Amino acid sequence: MTVRRPDPAPVLVVGAGPVGLTLAWRLARAGRQVRVFEADEGITSQLRASTFHPPTLDMLEDDGITTALLAAGRVTPGWQIRIHETGERVTFDLGVLAEDTGHPYRLQCHQAELSRRLMRQLRSLDVEVAFGSRVTSVGQDDTHAFATLEDGRRFTGSHLVGCEGARSVTREAIGADFAGAAYPETTVLATTEFPFENIMPDLAGVNYVWKAGGTFSLLRLPDCWRCSFQARDDQDEAAATSPAALQAHLREILPTHADSVEVIETRAYRVHRRLASRWRLGRLFIAGDAAHLNSPKGGMGLNGGIHDAFALADALLDGTEAALAQYEHRRRPVVDEAIIGQADRNRARMAIPDENGRRAELERLRAITRDPARLRDFLLESSMIAGLRRAAQPAAGNNSR
Ligand SMILES: Cc1cc2nc3c(=O)[nH]c(=O)nc-3n(C[C@H](O)[C@H](O)[C@H](O)COP(=O)(O)OP(=O)(O)OC[C@H]3O[C@@H](n4cnc5c(N)ncnc54)[C@H](O)[C@@H]3O)c2cc1C
Repeated sequence: MTVRRPDPAPVLVVGAGPVGLTLAWRLARAGRQVRVFEADEGITSQLRASTFHPPTLDMLEDDGITTALLAAGRVTPGWQIRIHETGERVTFDLGVLAEDTGHPYRLQCHQAELSRRLMRQLRSLDVEVAFGSRVTSVGQDDTHAFATLEDGRRFTGSHLVGCEGARSVTREAIGADFAGAAYPETTVLATTEFPFENIMPDLAGVNYVWKAGGTFSLLRLPDCWRCSFQARDDQDEAAATSPAALQAHLREILPTHADSVEVIETRAYRVHRRLASRWRLGRLFIAGDAAHLNSPKGGMGLNGGIHDAFALADALLDGTEAALAQYEHRRRPVVDEAIIGQADRNRARMAIPDENGRRAELERLRAITRDPARLRDFLLESSMIAGLRRAAQPAAGNNSR
């Protein structure tokens, strides 16, 4: 890699979510000046992602980030798809990826742990993260990029990266549309310390479950279980998270124990599948949720955003036009197919409505686990390793912009 003399102007990063912080960390630890603007007053501890896939853990090894996540999270060697009523299941053991990754497992860990750890690194690197600083517009000329804050202050950088999530001002400034759609269902996420493992035999740490008339998932963190279900069609977010609605869901899952389940925290959200039509215009870039949104089935949104941040940091450090152009040309098709498409297929699988269809799918998946080569291929895809390998291939077509 040809490393050019660093541009003295900082890279401006909009948004201190996990993607913006990862990008800032990669740039700053390589000696690049960075300035981060965050609208909120601090790092959010909102209930969001909890799955870290193997290649993400491989990437985050520098400065002890992965070690800290492993200490704060729960290693999950395998994940399951199961039929609730009968307990029939298929379990995918990630140990078969031992030759492909240094971390052949999923880690379940609150997303906020990553952000806190990255903030600590950024402080040690003297990077300014300006909280309470909402960026209202961004722009560029031939030599620089600009960010203007709500209070009118304007900052100048060599490049600007919008990591400000789904409602990105940078995405608008680069003229990208955000084509896609919202899935019809509202998902309710509830956390509880209730020991599901004592009631449902042989649960894994991550479980996608078919139940009569619907589906739910159970993810185990060190301190709690995260239980996701679909709200009824006639419920808005408030109704879907009411104690009565949660009890109704829990009674369907645990008919004789629902009263003993104490829900600690709930959140209802609508899920979208969207992909920005372009990720760059000159000195302006987008990454993470600003560039793509997907169904959370499979836990790939946060991971994909972190992979964007690594790719873009490498491109910005290289600084050549070819490297900068490759960021979008390599990442965008892989995100489309291996993240948005894969998450969509995962969602469709769990939406199979009838018993026969579910049983046939379970049999198909069991056949995969009996064939070592097919199992490895399946897990390379679902663990996001195959997509990253494809993104590392030279892109076809003209990369200049
Ligand atoms: C309930 C839930 C569960 C999920 N589970 C998973 C999972 O298991 N695995 C997974 O991989 N993904 C999961 N995701 C997705 C994951 O949380 C997101 O993909 C991830 O947070 C994206 O990170 P980001 O940094 O791109 O955006 P965000 O986390 O949205 O961060 C954007 C930041 O930018 C700030 N901001 C916004 N506008 C401005 C502005 N104008 N100026 C300055 N700052 C601004 C925001 O305040 C925020 O801090 C889940 C999401 C939800 C909602």
